[in-house]
Amino acid sequence: MGDALVVDGLVRHFGGVRAVDGVSFTVAPDEIVALIGPNGAGKSTCFNLLSGQLRPGAGTIRLGTAEMTGLSPRARWRMGVGRTFQVAAVFPSFTVLENVQMALLRGRVWQAWVPARMLHRDAAAAALVEVGLSAQSDRPAGVLAYGDIKRLELAMVLAGRPRLLLLDEPTAGMAAGERAALMNLIRTVAAGRAVLFTEHDMGAVFSTAHRVLVMDRGRIIAAGPPAAVRADAAVRAAYLGTG
Ligand code: ADP
Ligand code: MG
Repeated sequence: MGDALVVDGLVRHFGGVRAVDGVSFTVAPDEIVALIGPNGAGKSTCFNLLSGQLRPGAGTIRLGTAEMTGLSPRARWRMGVGRTFQVAAVFPSFTVLENVQMALLRGRVWQAWVPARMLHRDAAAAALVEVGLSAQSDRPAGVLAYGDIKRLELAMVLAGRPRLLLLDEPTAGMAAGERAALMNLIRTVAAGRAVLFTEHDMGAVFSTAHRVLVMDRGRIIAAGPPAAVRADAAVRAAYLGTG
């Protein structure tokens, strides 16, 4: 089986800032890959290029054999790319279930013959089961604990049945216990999918990733299994260099 994600020569500059400066890597269909690096390394820019929020100055992105470089975020979502953002974005006055339904509506064709509250209801409910939030389906999203909002975000992405999951700091702002639980959940939902995630917490990275890519100043400076990357001198220097 070929790779799920193939990134080749990706470039994105902002004025003089080389946020992403010639990045190439692949993710296999069943692989969990962590993209790490100091603040400002280019991780979020990379994610924005992969999900279509930003267009690259150069380079190509393929999902399996399909070219997606110039496509809109919505077109990529339809092809099977699901992403979460560093800052959780849910509608607080809508219920948990409605938030997942809306995520599906945003990406899909409106089914005009179905009453609004039934739209994508089964797919949304199934996604809530997957993340363990079924009991909260009918509560307004605004009353959820922070850890549950992060789970809801994950459900909103999983509902689209993505082949590739892009998670930008999925545990940002979480306490240690919650973080471990969310990483467990991510390992579970990763089965049969390609996952690329960024993360500051090295415990979460090394316990979850099959492979680690290290970015610094727009480039990948090291890549390999967690143990090898942890021992890499260039990686240590990159982290020490920024305090
Ligand atoms: P990371 O997610 O690794 O912390 P980012 O991708 O957010 O890094 O940022 C990489 C570099 O690009 C930083 O120097 C940042 O200031 C710059 N940058 C990111 N987005 C923009 C933008 N929209 N306009 C200008 N500069 C940007
Ligand atoms: Mg970032």
